This record gives sequence, C-alpha cells and structure tokens, in this order.
Amino acid sequence: MSTPTSRSDWEALAASLKITGQAFINGQYQGAASGDTFDCISPIDGQVLAKVASCDLADANLAVANAREVFEAGTWSMLPPVKRKQVMIKFADLLEENADELALLETLDMGKPIQHSKGVDVVGAARAIRWYGEAIDKIYDEIAPTAHNEIGMITREPVGVVAAIVPWNFPMIMACWKLGPSLATGNSVILKPSEKSPLTAIRMAQLAIEAGIPAGVLNVLPGYGHTVGKALALHMDVDTLVFTGSTKIAKQLMIYAGESNMKRVWLEAGGKSPNIVFNDAPDLKAAAEAAAVAIAFNQGEVCTAGSRLLVESGVKDELIKLIVEEMQGWQPGHPLDPKTTCGAMVDQQQLTNVLNYIKAGSEQGATLVDGGKQVMAETGGMYVQPTIFSNVRNDMTIASEEIFGPVLSVIEFDGMEQAVKIANDTMYGLAAGVWTSNLSKAHKTAKALRSGMVWINHYDGGDMTAPFGGYKQSGNGRDKSLHAFDKYTEIKATWIAL
Ligand code: NAD
Repeated sequence: MSTPTSRSDWEALAASLKITGQAFINGQYQGAASGDTFDCISPIDGQVLAKVASCDLADANLAVANAREVFEAGTWSMLPPVKRKQVMIKFADLLEENADELALLETLDMGKPIQHSKGVDVVGAARAIRWYGEAIDKIYDEIAPTAHNEIGMITREPVGVVAAIVPWNFPMIMACWKLGPSLATGNSVILKPSEKSPLTAIRMAQLAIEAGIPAGVLNVLPGYGHTVGKALALHMDVDTLVFTGSTKIAKQLMIYAGESNMKRVWLEAGGKSPNIVFNDAPDLKAAAEAAAVAIAFNQGEVCTAGSRLLVESGVKDELIKLIVEEMQGWQPGHPLDPKTTCGAMVDQQQLTNVLNYIKAGSEQGATLVDGGKQVMAETGGMYVQPTIFSNVRNDMTIASEEIFGPVLSVIEFDGMEQAVKIANDTMYGLAAGVWTSNLSKAHKTAKALRSGMVWINHYDGGDMTAPFGGYKQSGNGRDKSLHAFDKYTEIKATWIAL
C-alpha cells in the first residue's frame, strides 16, 4: 500500500494489520510460559487490539539465561565494533522502512496523533539506533600517564545482561534510547515495554533479527510491572537495570537491586518542570506557542512537560491570553486523522487521574481559564481538553504533583530570585525553560536551577548529542549522547609492569 495520507487510508491500513502480541525470546515469538495473556486496548475507541503475552518469572528466567549464553558466546559482544555498527545501521534503516506500520501500531496502542508517531517517534527511534551505531567504532579507550616501566590501560567492557524497563508515553523512543547504547556496546538486552503500550517493542524485535542482531541478544517480554518487571529487577543474573518511568517505581527498583545482586540501576523518572517567562522575554508570542506545545504535545504525557508556567507579573495577562489562543490548535481529535495534534490519553485510568487533578485544581482555589472537560466520550475513547489554570500557588496539588496530562499551572512571580525559589521548590529536577532578553539573567537563572536540562528562549530543545536526564528525584544517569555509554559499560584498569 502507498503511504497513507488521510484518516481513511490509515484506517484501511489498520484493518489489514496483523498484530503480534507474543513475547520474543532467543529470536522466536512465543507465548508466555504460563499461557496467560492480557487485553491490549486502544484508547482511541476502547476496543481490544490484541491479546498480549503476560510474561512472568519463568519467562524472565528463560530470557535471562538465553541472553547470558549469547553474551558469553561472544557472537555479538565480541564482534568488532565496526561490524556491530553495520548491523545497528541496518536496524535503523528497517525501522524507517517500516515507518507506517510502526507509527500505526504506536497510535493505535497509546493514542498519540499519527503525524507525531510517524514524524517524531519512528524518526527519533531510528535516529537513536543509528547514532549509537555510528558512534561505536569511533571511541577509544585510555592509557594512563604512568611511569616509564609500566602501562596502565583503562578499558570499557559491556556489562553483560541488561534489563530495560520502559514507560508508555514514547514507547519506541524510550526503548531505543536504551537499545542504542546497550546494543552498540555489545550487551544482551531484555526489553520490558509498558503493559499499556507493548506492540511496537514486540514488532521491533523482529526487525532487529532481520538486521542481523543474533538471536538472544534482544529479547522482549511484555507483561505487568509487578510480575515480569519485578522478576527482572530482582534477577540475580541481570547486571544492569535501566528504567524510564515514575519516581515511585524508580525507588522500588533501587530496593529490588539492594535485595538481590546489587545490579547497577539507572533511572529516568518523573518531572514537574518550570517554564519561566520574565517580563523581558524577547518574543511573547513565541513563548506562548512554546508553552502550549510544552503542555499539550503528546497529550501532556511527557516527562519534561512544562507543567508549571512561572510568569513575571508584568506579562502575565498578555501571556495567558496568547496561550489560550494557541490552545485552539491543540484541541483533541481522532488520532488517525493526519491533522490531529492532540490525541487520546493512554487509558481510562490516566484519563480519570487527569480529570481528578482538574477537579482538585478548582477545589483548591486555582482559576480555570480554559479547557477542563472530557470530550469525544461517544467514541469510547479517552479524550480531555488541554486545560489552563491561573492563580496557582506552588503548594497546590496541581503544581506539586506530576499530572502527566495536558494541565498547565500558571504561577505568578516578581524578580529572578523569587522565580528560582519557586522553580526549585519541587522534589523533581528534570528540565526548565527560561525566557529573557538579558544574557546575564539567562545564565544566572540557568546556573541556579537544580535541573538536568535548561532551555533558554525555547522549550524542549536538544538532539542526540545532548544528555537527557534529571537531578534530585527525577533520576540518575543520562540517556542520549556519549554519556549514556557510562550505563552500559564497566571500566577496567589493567596495570602492566614492563
Ligand atoms: P511507571 O513507573 O508506572 O511504569 C514504567 C514501567 O515500569 C512500566 O513498564 C511498568 O510496567 C514497570 N513497572 C511498574 N511497576 C514495576 C515493578 N514493581 N517492578 C518493575 N517494573 C515495574 O511509569 P509510566 O506510567 O509507564 O510512565 C510515566 C512516568 O514515566 C512519568 O512519571 C514520566 O515522567 C516518566 N518518564 C520519564 C522520562 C525521563 O526520561 N525522565 C521519560 C518518559 C517518561
């Protein structure tokens, strides 16, 4: 079929799609050992898309044993980097060649607009695999500055078996931010997608094999967190656990590691990011546009969502007016319509969470400026209007808790000192935006923010070259960039007496 260009084209492709819901272990699709499945429900209309294998301890044991065996055999782990590079690049090519199918699976499974699944998620996933593939044969180890009669070699080695547990908001991208550096460095990986969005991970595993990644190197175990996720986190033969998800589960994983084999644990967790607009912002319209994207893109289900908009009093009213205008372009629509910008919330539970937060905002005295309602309920899908609250205090529930939905809290401030104080008054430290024409103020504010990423006069910038991750309870370690290799390699010091 030619590339779909309309909702009916995408619906026709969806009707012909063969969806696989099986686990992928040692290069084969197979059901869970128990035979159990769970329903994968589309938030577009509440319909069941597929029965998906509900993996558990037995599947984790099998996948880890296979992953270990192939790691020790060296078919991937000892392959020259230039060869791994070629396979990774082929894998990226295959992701791109199958972009329509992958985008469609992503949209059906988690409700995001098809234009973003194809233009952002598939593109971002392929880029991550390609970037790490291309990087791996260009990195050198180190020789220590020793005395003349010694050589100190500092080398990096793959950690071994990696378990990657990922969330549902960017299923492919979050997976590929882990798969890129872990596979490139020669590890064997067990990927556990979210039970809310398992389909693209399952499909990608087959493309990896097609690209030439040996059987057993990439395994995918769909299932629940408290079953297969926990089994992997407690497993005595998993060397490293990498995670993207909530702060609550991130903390639990540290406990599991301590209770088992002290596996390395790297966590990308939640956020409640401040987007600070000073009176001297260079372009208020651009700030409004970015503020709307920062809270409405991906239905607000973004860890870096600019959910706290800190506005200096002189521009507050004007900025709110401009954001309300911008939000007209972010009203929910059918996710398979190529014009839709805001799709469905991932499931009923997430929709209910968001509606409860909106209720709490009004009850605690914030002013509802725009949105606030569930819409399109007649479709059976999970849609909510982008919502703006003003007169929010930083201690209100909607300003302190991560909503993970399109709900913006506007908080007024006066002066840099107060802005920084409010911005840092959170348990999170993932990202922040700063809008000012004053270079010195921009730098001073950026330095004062306890945050892993700071964006000046835009929001959510960066590419594969920039590390991604947070301070405080937003996690540890970094995805993206060469820094991500730290998570997937051990450093060995070999000292030679000559
Ligand atoms: P979640 O923590 O509920 O689940 C994440 C993953 O952990 C899922 O695969 C889940 O099945 C698994 N899990 C749940 N309980 C587990 C357990 N006891 N043991 C092992 N695994 C378990 O998060 P979510 O709702 O899927 O995703 C939303 C969260 O992800 C938000 O907090 C968001 O900020 C965060 N996130 C962070 C980043 C980042 O890079 N910092 C990026 C995207 C999303």
